[in-house]
Amino acid sequence: MITRLALAWLHLLALVCGLAGVWARGRALSDSLRHPEDPRAIRRALVGDTWWGIAAAAWIVTGLWRLIAGTEKSTSYYVASHAFLFKMSLFLVVFALEIWPMTTLMRWRRKKLQPDARDVGRIEIISYVECALVAIIALVAVAMARGYGAGFVAPQAPVVSLASGAIDSVLKVADSVSRAPVVVRAVLPVPPSGTDSVTADDVALITHEIAMPLDSIDPTTLHSSFNDPRAGGLRQHHALDIMSPRGTPIHSAASGRVLKLFTSIDGGLMVHAADSSERFVIMYAHLDHYAPELTDSTRLVRGQLIGFVGSTGNASENAPHLHFAIARSADVKHWSRGNPIDPLPVLVAAQLAARPISLR
Ligand SMILES: [Zn+2]
Repeated sequence: MITRLALAWLHLLALVCGLAGVWARGRALSDSLRHPEDPRAIRRALVGDTWWGIAAAAWIVTGLWRLIAGTEKSTSYYVASHAFLFKMSLFLVVFALEIWPMTTLMRWRRKKLQPDARDVGRIEIISYVECALVAIIALVAVAMARGYGAGFVAPQAPVVSLASGAIDSVLKVADSVSRAPVVVRAVLPVPPSGTDSVTADDVALITHEIAMPLDSIDPTTLHSSFNDPRAGGLRQHHALDIMSPRGTPIHSAASGRVLKLFTSIDGGLMVHAADSSERFVIMYAHLDHYAPELTDSTRLVRGQLIGFVGSTGNASENAPHLHFAIARSADVKHWSRGNPIDPLPVLVAAQLAARPISLR
């Protein structure tokens, strides 16, 4: 925790010092062009350049440390992040731009020569361009830290918690199914209703469709963290965390289709999928990696392998788990929206419905 904080602080400090250094170098070179007779301007440019050099070294060391040691996120998370790759490309441009000024300024230092006015002008412009690029890098970094777009399923409508009546009706459905001589869990296509309010029929439908996404986990042994506070109380969890070793296979909880394979700061690698009725968005987060060949439009059969448990995103490295969420959706095209439903009672009822037929 201390290392993590210190590295983040030093990384930011290096950015600020570097920006100030390269700006000072540019300003001093402008002064030198205006007053070529004044040797102090070049000396100030060299001081600015020294700060820029020290800051760049600190910036690279702390950045690589955070990347390789995975103090914030796992390395695979960064490599999969578009924002991060964009940031790295900008960094490489700054690095490439700096090669010539760096060697030229080294020559000035060594030979104590009066610098050539044309070179002074060029390095002045390069310094300002680098300043602008470093400012853009800072912007991209801030965007990355803010989740860069959508995060977890965010409720757009007020949360409707399941009334006990709805749960009763689920259990009744579950019970009647379990006593039937032959259990056929056919998935009937139901037209989307264009609303995200949760009815007892909806709960019965999703219960009928769903199965536990991880093998050999009994949902009755889990406890609900649906209403737990997150983000310092700013929002609620609205999902079920299922602890499981890294690399545990994750199976599609329902038949349907993949809507979006998404990566966010909070959720890490995520799958958003629609059930077969297209009324629900089912979300799986913190995946270590996806199943091979899974794409944004894969058709899913219940039980199909979709990925593996991990700790990407805002999850502790030491506590890999599946963050599993269900949302009632007015239109699954908007895969990041919906009205969250506590997955645990649904999974428990589904397990009751699917249990082996007992003679009673
Ligand atoms: Zn979670």
